[in-house]
Parts: sequence; C-alpha cells; structure tokens
Amino acid sequence: MQDPTKDYAGVSFWLETCGDDLTPRPALAGSTAVDVAILGAGYTGLWTAYYLLARQPSLKIAIVEREIAGFGASGRNGSWCSAHFPVSPGVIAEKFGREKAVALYRAMAASVDEVARVAVREGFDIEFIKGGSLSVAHGPAQLPAVRDAHAAFVALGLEDRVALLDKAQTDARVRIEGVLGAVFYKDAASIHPGRLVRGLARAVERRGATIYEQTDVTGFTPGARPALHTAAGDVRAKTIVLCGEAYLTHLKPLHRQLIPVYSLMALTEPLSVADWGAIGWRHREDIDSCRLTIEYMAKTADGRILFGGRGAPYHFGSRIDAAYDRHAPTIRMFEDSVRAWFPRLKAVRFTHAWGGPLGVPRDFMPTMSFDPAQNVASARGYVGNGVATTNLAGRVLADLIAGERTAVTDLPCVNHHSPNWEIEPLRWLAVHYIQRAYWKLDQKAARTGVAPDGKSLAERLTRH
Ligand SMILES: Cc1cc2nc3c(=O)[nH]c(=O)nc-3n(C[C@H](O)[C@H](O)[C@H](O)COP(=O)(O)OP(=O)(O)OC[C@H]3O[C@@H](n4cnc5c(N)ncnc54)[C@H](O)[C@@H]3O)c2cc1C
Repeated sequence: MQDPTKDYAGVSFWLETCGDDLTPRPALAGSTAVDVAILGAGYTGLWTAYYLLARQPSLKIAIVEREIAGFGASGRNGSWCSAHFPVSPGVIAEKFGREKAVALYRAMAASVDEVARVAVREGFDIEFIKGGSLSVAHGPAQLPAVRDAHAAFVALGLEDRVALLDKAQTDARVRIEGVLGAVFYKDAASIHPGRLVRGLARAVERRGATIYEQTDVTGFTPGARPALHTAAGDVRAKTIVLCGEAYLTHLKPLHRQLIPVYSLMALTEPLSVADWGAIGWRHREDIDSCRLTIEYMAKTADGRILFGGRGAPYHFGSRIDAAYDRHAPTIRMFEDSVRAWFPRLKAVRFTHAWGGPLGVPRDFMPTMSFDPAQNVASARGYVGNGVATTNLAGRVLADLIAGERTAVTDLPCVNHHSPNWEIEPLRWLAVHYIQRAYWKLDQKAARTGVAPDGKSLAERLTRH
C-alpha cells in the first residue's frame, strides 16, 4: 500500500538536504518481465544498474525498493568516501597474498575517484572534497595502532598513500584535545551521501531503468526462471540482483549471512568562523580514532561537525526497527565526545541525530558474487565502509553478469562466501559479549594508557 505522506526527509540530515523530491515513485502494480531485476535502490543496486546500462543501453532493468531510493544506509551514512575496506590490507595480505591486497587497495582508491568522476559527468553536486582521512591516536594507548597501520601500508609498498604525523603535524591539520599523532591516508573524500544516492537514481532512470518504490520484496526464486516476489506480483528476469545490505537479513535464505549492527550519529549546528579558526580542519579530512568501539567524525560542507560511531545495542533475532535509529544514550555519548574533543564547543547545539543498520558478515569480508547456474547476483557486507566499495561492487557485478573477466573480477571479495552467523540465542550472546568486551578494553586502555594486546577473546574473534 503506497503512503505518499511518509516523512522520508526525517530519516537523516542527508535526505532532508538532498534537494530532490522525496515523493515516492509509483509502486509495482502487477507482474512484469525484465532482463535484470534488482532488489534495493541504495548505492549497490543503483551502481549495478548504472554500469549494466553503460555496457548495454538496451537492457530492461527494474529496481524494486521497499521505501524510497536512499532510504537505507546510502542515505544515512557518515559521508566518508574512502579506500578503507572492512578488512585491513595487512589481514587481506595474510589471507590472500600481498599482490591481491595491493590490487584491492588500488581498486578501492580508484573507486573514490570514480565516484567523483560520475558525479561530475552526471551533473549531481555531491560536495565531493578529497581531503584524505586521519586516524588519530586519542591518548597514548592508541599510538601503537597508528604506527602499526602505517607500517602495514609501508610493508605492502603503499607508503606513498599514507603519512605518519606527530602531534604538531596533526595539530596543524586539526586541533583535537588529547590527540598525540595520526596516520594520514590520501585516498579519502567527504561527500553529501543523499545527493549521491538520489542523483544516481535519477541517472539510471534517464537511461531507461524503472524504480518501483514502496514495494517490498517478500522472497525470490533462483534458477532457470528467476524472479523477485512482491505482494503486487512478480518481477521475472534473466538475472536477479540482491542489494538490500542489512535488510537482506529479512529474507530467509540470507538471514544468517549478515547481522544488522546499528551505527548512529549526532550533528552540530554550523560552527562560527571563530570556532573553525581555532579548530583548523581546513581540508575537511575524515577523522576517526583507534578505539575498538568505532568513533569517527566528518566536517560537512556547511561547516557542521558530524560525530558518529557504533555502540548501540544489537537486537535479538537481527531485528531492525526505526525506533533503534535514535538510541538516546548512544547519541548523548557522541554529543559529549564532541564537547570533550573540542572543549571550546561546550555550548554547541546539536540539530540532528539519526542512524541505521550496517550489514556485518561473520568474517567482515564483503561479497560481490554472481552464480550463473542460479542467475542470482548479490553484493553486501560492507560493514561501515560501503560508500566507495559499493561503486566497486556495481562495476564487479556488471562485469560478472556480462560474463567478462576484468581487472576487478579477480579481487578477493569476488564470489567470496562468508560463513553464516550463529543461530539465536548464541548470536545475541556473542554480539553482546563482543560489544561489552570492546567497551571495557577501550575504557581500560584510556585509563592505563596501554593498548589492548590483541589477545583477548573478543579481539581474536573479530580480527579483520
Ligand atoms: C549510520 C551509517 C553510517 C555509515 N557511514 C559510512 C561512511 O561514512 N562511509 C562508508 O564508506 N560507509 C558508511 N556506511 C556504510 C554504507 O553507507 C553502506 O555500506 C552502503 O550505503 C550500502 O549500500 P547498499 O545499497 O548496499 O545498501 P542500502 O543503502 O542499505 O540500500 C538497501 C536498500 O534496499 C532496500 N531493501 C532492503 N530489503 C528490501 C526488500 N525486501 N524489498 C525491497 N527493498 C528492500 C532498503 O530499503 C534500502 O533502500 C554507513 C552506514 C550506516 C548505516
């Protein structure tokens, strides 16, 4: 049932300010047949459609979206468009070899630039600025992580992509209370996520794709006659593509492939010229710390600070609910962090808070796959690094579906299969255990100034 009155602008600051009309497009009104049927109008589904149509403009593509384009993580994220991949280059090198690790890194770095290139070509202003990113040591316990991250790049011959900064060099970029140094990564940009996803939706429509909104895919059939099923009818196709990220956990066959982990954020009002003068941060670098419990920041084009991170609870049975998007204690913690990191902002006002679920695979490794026997493709499991990775995924899926072997179809995430998560209640117990253990390890490190040694059960279980 269509609901034209639903408040999609309230989902996030990005959808509120994307400048696009958020009125839902028509829903599917009966069964139809196309060449490619895509579940999900987020970056993955839209990039896949974009590159498929670039290859073969005559393809008939339908995208079926439960809400509106950009409703999911693509319209809510932390605005980092970076070469960071959910599994670190060092761990990729251990598992797949040095050559693959370097190839993957370079493909990710190229994806950052490709996002900018397409935005210019298609004429959507995504406020792209390539200021790099800083992983800061917030306290002495985080200095070893900064040095190790830098050393891992040097060991792979990627030293030209990073720089190790001491306190003075870090302060020269941005003055954060308690920061002692940082590793600077060149291949990172900041964008307006909402304008990217809504712009992509318009771009694929211009090329002939149809997006059905407020249409829930309730199941799918693989095999010789594949289809997406909805209450209004089936979308039959030669190939179906599943791009629902965290929400894929609603589909029975994929229920245990990912868990939805909530990532939330708080946004300040635009800061004054005097505040920015004191803080610096002129190049709008993406910034995170080296805590186990992720925390990060971005500076928006209109001069606000976005502070986000994880820590909100996992819900039994991988439940997803709009009420979880604004977990008040987590939001308060981020607001306190802004005041602690920038003491001169003790009176700053916060205007927005939102969040959403990330898709986390058991081994933290994204999957970009196509099974020609079943005619099913899917890309998912980006954890918190999906903005540039989904562009790579779109190109990989387009190449795989076209049956072509290219430079990107040999990457280690291609046709990767993550193990399933545990069944409940083991899953809930394990995730809660890890979240609590991370929290305690971070608290102890901050108190003692000594980094966690990597040997705790939680760290060993989640090494990536
Ligand atoms: C709060 C938050 C902050 C993040 N910050 C960053 C960041 O700063 N940098 C970064 O690189 N990554 C970040 N990420 C991750 C990144 O945003 C995602 O990996 C990426 O947007 C995933 O795109 P997607 O298209 O695969 O999924 P989504 O954008 O989630 O899109 C999936 C779409 O599928 C639809 N859908 C799902 N199931 C169905 C169904 N059954 N029927 C019909 N439609 C369905 C959903 O409604 C949704 O619109 C963040 C994620 C979150 C949640």
